[in-house]
Amino acid sequence: MHEYSLADGIIKTVISVAEENKATKVSKVTVEYGLFSLVEAPQLDFCLGLIAEGTILKDAEFVLERNNGKIKCDECGYEGEPKIADDDMLQLMMFSCPKCDSSRTTILDGRQIIISSIDITTDEE
Ligand SMILES: [Zn+2]
Repeated sequence: MHEYSLADGIIKTVISVAEENKATKVSKVTVEYGLFSLVEAPQLDFCLGLIAEGTILKDAEFVLERNNGKIKCDECGYEGEPKIADDDMLQLMMFSCPKCDSSRTTILDGRQIIISSIDITTDEE
């Protein structure tokens, strides 16, 4: 499963950052995922919770933020966020140019998955 290996990578990265910073607890992790990364947020959230069990992240809150990315319209030259047809049907990639409604577009940005912040607790006061 795509989301499971992604979640595994995220958890491993957070653990190594937490260890480097001598954290005793990770309280919150914010993950930004691009619209075109084809990530299903509820699945990713579920996998993160599952893998976090028994690690320093076990009490962490996971915040998943979507980045709507950037497209270039091949018809009118528009560059910016796409118009999304239906938020619940993202896996069908129903997006188009907000200016001329063309679906002939090139994806410029929005494929990546980034850990945008990690909140940790350390023993030091
Ligand atoms: Zn256009």
